[in-house]
Amino acid sequence: VRNGADAMQSARRILSTRDAPGECYGQKLRVTGSVGIVIAASGASAESVLRDADTAMYQAKSSGRNRYALFDETLHHRLLARLDLERDLRMAINRDELDVHYQPIVDLKTGRPIGAEALVRWNRPGHGMVPPLDFIPIAEESGLIREIGTWVFERALAQLAAWDCDPEAPKLQLLTVNFSARQLDDEEGIAQIATLLHRHGVDPARIEIEITESVAMTGELITRDSLQQLRDAGVRISIDDFGTGYSSLSYLHSLPVATVKIDRSFIERLDSDSGSPVVQAILDMSHAMGLRVIAEGVSNEHMLRSVSAMGCDLAQGFLWSRPLPNQELVEWWRDASRDVHKTSGTRRQMDLSRSA
Ligand code: C2E
Ligand code: MG
Ligand code: MG
Repeated sequence: VRNGADAMQSARRILSTRDAPGECYGQKLRVTGSVGIVIAASGASAESVLRDADTAMYQAKSSGRNRYALFDETLHHRLLARLDLERDLRMAINRDELDVHYQPIVDLKTGRPIGAEALVRWNRPGHGMVPPLDFIPIAEESGLIREIGTWVFERALAQLAAWDCDPEAPKLQLLTVNFSARQLDDEEGIAQIATLLHRHGVDPARIEIEITESVAMTGELITRDSLQQLRDAGVRISIDDFGTGYSSLSYLHSLPVATVKIDRSFIERLDSDSGSPVVQAILDMSHAMGLRVIAEGVSNEHMLRSVSAMGCDLAQGFLWSRPLPNQELVEWWRDASRDVHKTSGTRRQMDLSRSA
């Protein structure tokens, strides 16, 4: 191997030898490989060459496996940035940098808010607000999600209890909290849920735990057990981002699930494609199985009209409000309940129910 082109040629050759399945105990097995290539600068230490090759190999794995990746400096910088982020995230809870915002959930029959989804926020010093999608995956990989998830859950319960005690604050019927796969694998964490509910004096029936479709579909016993344990603790289970994975509603039906949240991507498409047979089918099947349906990402009146007409139960989205910090949610809720004409979504809904 004399240069990068030669190295890639070799990598392709090595990977292609793996195309044919091998046999193992009578089973046909296909083995794939991921190759990291580094072109060492003269004088580079063996240690740094191996480290960079490793980085490139992980890049190859994360972009789909069975391929090669060539190390370059941007990869190195990305790795360093990731390590920095993970280090800062480790300290974020103790440094009080995390917060929870709440996005209202509206009952489509009455047009009134009935609950909210708790969404974590990280105000990272020197970086501002980091979107959850930029740090939740890293929290999941590093295992930090267990600590963060418990913190979010407890903070949301404490907030709900505080609102209950405040005559000016709304009384939410429903508070939903997101859970990651690694929280469901955490037996101690799952067992702790009932204790936390009890500690904050929150009726578990008001709490819904959202897990994504892919997590629900793993079919792993531990997931099933954890879901049942949560259900036994009295909380409800909801399937988030429904429609984005390979799901079978009948399989979901074998789990203790109460709610399906139709992913935003379906709702957004309603804009151009008014009659959506897919959304209608999800709704009809969910209802037939006794599940409640929430439309996610309702951001204009057209979407609201469509999801209402199709018989969706609840909705959330920018049409009503973005996720808000505690005090802003209280004010938003007060306005929305006192004067339904103040929020366009609610007003539209009033018009709709009148015309119906
Ligand atoms: P999600 O659970 O599906 O939450 C809904 C996301 O959609 C939120 O983004 C919300 O701000 C956004 N959204 C709501 N309505 C609209 C709309 O009308 N238009 C558009 N474009 N977006 C809308 P956010 O807060 O950035 O959260 C992103 C994801 O991060 C969440 O998706 C969830 O998967 C994850 N996440 C957030 N907080 C937590 C948490 O505490 N724990 C875990 N495990 N995951 C969390
Ligand atoms: Mg969610
Ligand atoms: Mg979602």
